[in-house]
Amino acid sequence: MIGKLLDKCLKKKWTDEAVLNYVGEYQDAFITHSTDVSVREKSASGGTTTSLLIQGLKSGDFEGVIVCKTSVRKGRVRARFFIATTVEDILAARGSKYVEAKFLAEVLPLIRGFEGRLAIVGLPCDITALKRFCNKYVDIANKIVFTIALFCGHNSRIALIDEITARIERESQKQIVDYRFRVGNWRGQLEAVFDDGTVKSKPTKYFNDYQNLFFFCQRKCMSCNDHYGYDADMSVGDVWLFRLRSSPIKHTGVIVRKDAGIRMHDIALAANAIDSSKIEIREIMDGQSRIGPSHYNVSARHKAGRLFGVHIKDTVKQEVAWHEYLNALITVGNMCLSEKAWGEKVIFGTPRPILKLYLYFKKALESL
Ligand SMILES: Cc1cc2nc3c(=O)[nH]c(=O)nc-3n(C[C@H](O)[C@H](O)[C@H](O)COP(=O)(O)OP(=O)(O)OC[C@H]3O[C@@H](n4cnc5c(N)ncnc54)[C@H](O)[C@@H]3O)c2cc1C
Ligand code: SF4
Repeated sequence: MIGKLLDKCLKKKWTDEAVLNYVGEYQDAFITHSTDVSVREKSASGGTTTSLLIQGLKSGDFEGVIVCKTSVRKGRVRARFFIATTVEDILAARGSKYVEAKFLAEVLPLIRGFEGRLAIVGLPCDITALKRFCNKYVDIANKIVFTIALFCGHNSRIALIDEITARIERESQKQIVDYRFRVGNWRGQLEAVFDDGTVKSKPTKYFNDYQNLFFFCQRKCMSCNDHYGYDADMSVGDVWLFRLRSSPIKHTGVIVRKDAGIRMHDIALAANAIDSSKIEIREIMDGQSRIGPSHYNVSARHKAGRLFGVHIKDTVKQEVAWHEYLNALITVGNMCLSEKAWGEKVIFGTPRPILKLYLYFKKALESL
């Protein structure tokens, strides 16, 4: 009841032009989740991505999937790409990795060395970069039969995860051997697995308070307006609607863009691997109503960047309201602060309650 009321209050009006600008071309939208509780367990949201990939492998639509796994060496958490050829491999890659990775540098040699057809999961910028390569190199294009883009607010530099994991190791006096950025319902928890087999969970805000303030945001994200993955066959993301907050099952929002996306959705549905209901694209956008528009608004960051001596190319040329400008000042300013050694000290030395107030202020600006 309260959830529905909150959703109603926060609902934005999405014109057809806004849908086209923010989401791009699409055919259908669904609210979904994996029907297998053991798949959902360690997935980022509803486990739909994993279920679709498993079903595609089983149906013989592709022989391999490029997935992103967490690799931990000496307590350092990194994201690495692999080709999964079994159900177990796909399951091992569940969950979002909120840390910079070298997508093309790692993925292109994998594709070239693989005999067979591939599905690929990636962030919007990576799927677009891959598409450019496919336009140039037929040998690569011929192997890729299905692409999924994850909705993406932005990604973080390694400095952030290194500080978070170092703190957890200091607190626990143990070394991290595996790490999950987010598991569980709604915002969920992060999980660190130690060398003695024990696991420590913390609310995701332990990492996300910094992330949501754009501290240690990658520079490339400043000039990115693609939140939903324009160039993929299908896009997937969370559904942050308050009416779903107390749901025992977390959902994945799915935007089907191309025929390959329709086919994979239908295959998973026919195999009863996912539960899926059609929804209005605007509901998906309501679930991203804060970050979606501010992500798209490169014009605001372009303007704000001037104050910090950062050139951000304005690719969307839209009018910038005062609150959008102020929000962009915080976004660009916080990224710049993270690039200085003294800035890092300020960021990590700021008491949590102050960070929290700052974050609420930023979220309020994003919600206007
Ligand atoms: C950096 C980042 C930012 C995101 N921002 C948003 C956002 O603002 N709003 C939103 O709704 N959703 C966002 N997501 C997507 C969201 O976290 C979930 O990934 C999505 O809901 C799919 O959930 P799932 O349960 O279906 O995926 P799962 O079944 O858990 O499968 C996840 C798949 O994603 C792949 N993967 C994980 N991390 C990466 C990565 N860094 N690069 C390439 N592939 C990867 C894995 O290989 C795995 O196959 C983001 C994800 C990432 C990695
Ligand atoms: S915000 Fe854009 S550039 Fe940054 S990681 Fe996401 S898709 Fe890539």
